[in-house]
Amino acid sequence: MDMQKAKQVQQEVCDTAKAMADSGLTAGTWGNISGRIDDTYMVITPSGMDYSKLNPDQMVIVNMKTEEYEGNLKPSIEVPLHAKLLLTRPEVNGIVHTHSSKALAVAVTRKGIPPICDDQVSILGGDVRCAPYTFPGTPSMADTVAEALLGRMGALIANHGSIAMGRNLREALIAATVLEKTAQIWIDVQALGNAEMISDEDCAKFYDFFMNKYGQKK
Ligand code: 13P
Ligand code: ZN
Repeated sequence: MDMQKAKQVQQEVCDTAKAMADSGLTAGTWGNISGRIDDTYMVITPSGMDYSKLNPDQMVIVNMKTEEYEGNLKPSIEVPLHAKLLLTRPEVNGIVHTHSSKALAVAVTRKGIPPICDDQVSILGGDVRCAPYTFPGTPSMADTVAEALLGRMGALIANHGSIAMGRNLREALIAATVLEKTAQIWIDVQALGNAEMISDEDCAKFYDFFMNKYGQKK
């Protein structure tokens, strides 16, 4: 393992965890964050610790293939979920799992969110699916959430929360914020009625634009 890269990912995971907590995307010690070091190792937040008191060197280095970890702190109970996603989605380098209120409100209905906003479909890839209810920290949670995320960068988890991914942790936190905002809009729009959906063709066009052309890319 490249120790310099490991230290850099520990810093990024710690910074993202604090930013998630500060932005009100989760309450207490819920949620978890991970970042890829390489094809075998990831860094993940420790289980059940106060985000405001975390230091980068407390972020736990985990072997994604064996789930063995380094140091004395227990990693998040969601290691199977983060490991499965990082192992099966090579384009993903950062993952943010939250219990944010609006996303969770929709997740309680056990239904997803149709493609309704341009930023949603550009950043999350289309409609937002809802993974069925499973017990946290289990391999079934990992399998069902990975399925809900196929071709997407965000999903809801029934009665539990949301998950968002990115090519880096900065993008993953933005995706989590956009998912929360989309859930709020979906709730508001149902009161108004008459939601018009974005077509599959336009969803694909927007996603390709975000992934390949948006920003300062030439
Ligand atoms: P951890 O504190 O172990 O990461 O668990 C929080 C959580 O959100 C479980 O799904
Ligand atoms: Zn959770």
